[in-house]
Amino acid sequence: MRTDDDSWDITESVGATALGVAAIRAYESGQEDALFQDPYAAKLVSAVGSDGWNNLMSGMRNLGDSEQGDDTDLRGWSMGSVLIARTVYFDEYFAAAVRAGIRQIVILAAGLDARAYRLEWPSGTRIFELDQPKVLAFKARALADDEPAADRREVAVDLRQDWPKALLDKGFEPGEPTAWLAEGLLRYLPGHAQDKLLEQVAELSAPGSRIALNLGTDKDMADQFRERRAKVMADAGVKIDLENLFYPWEDRKDPRTWFAMHQWLVTEGDPVAVLEDRGRTVPETAKAGMGHHILMTALRPRGDDTL
Ligand code: SAM
Repeated sequence: MRTDDDSWDITESVGATALGVAAIRAYESGQEDALFQDPYAAKLVSAVGSDGWNNLMSGMRNLGDSEQGDDTDLRGWSMGSVLIARTVYFDEYFAAAVRAGIRQIVILAAGLDARAYRLEWPSGTRIFELDQPKVLAFKARALADDEPAADRREVAVDLRQDWPKALLDKGFEPGEPTAWLAEGLLRYLPGHAQDKLLEQVAELSAPGSRIALNLGTDKDMADQFRERRAKVMADAGVKIDLENLFYPWEDRKDPRTWFAMHQWLVTEGDPVAVLEDRGRTVPETAKAGMGHHILMTALRPRGDDTL
């Protein structure tokens, strides 16, 4: 049961969802035809020392059921493929932001995101990672021997509280353009908290700033997708009840509309196209579930900016 001021460690409640996405990144990184390499993901998941998360990370062959047909690995599962696609999409988003000269990065709900360590950043890049204190503390312990590739600053804060102040206190420069990321965050916020967070982001965004985010809509989603999600977790031996961690999709504004109404230039991504454009065959059954997932970027224009 969620409450307005709940908090968690990495293995608890919403914290454990960060382990889930890191496990999928670890799995993909271990495949011969991987679309990205995140060597930190396996290290972070292993640091928990739990059979369930290790099972998920190893790919859990023989998941077979109706959603994936003959394709019995995590890529045949719509959520697995969405997580892989969005990693690629957001990696490329940051590469484009850096090419455009942005040197200030804010990762909201960073969880076990290791982009500060694994991507190339120009010198002078500052990366702020925001998440709950215990989640960031776990990550700091697990990566204590690793050097980030940028000036990485932790901001231990709840994103339903006064996080702008905490960010400013860590040296965020509101006059500089920023590349924001909200990956795997919005459904863990009540609708009113999402709207407030987007308003706060916009207030702190100098012209030229960008944001990338994803959001699972589950609009008209067949029960089979929810059941599938629960089954994959249960088969791995992972105890997590995603349905009760999410706040309803219906209570929030669609962020595509929200940013367009605030005069940002919105560009939508398509998780299936992200994979197919890179030569990956996506099973039809996984495609249906992936269609429920919004990927988008938005740019606060300086004048004649286009994305
Ligand atoms: N962005 C990371 C990624 O994609 O790997 C982590 C995504 S994970 C699904 C969700 C993350 O959101 C967790 O790390 C959780 O702690 C964080 N989170 C959710 N609600 C939060 C809140 N109110 N304040 C701070 N962090 C929050």
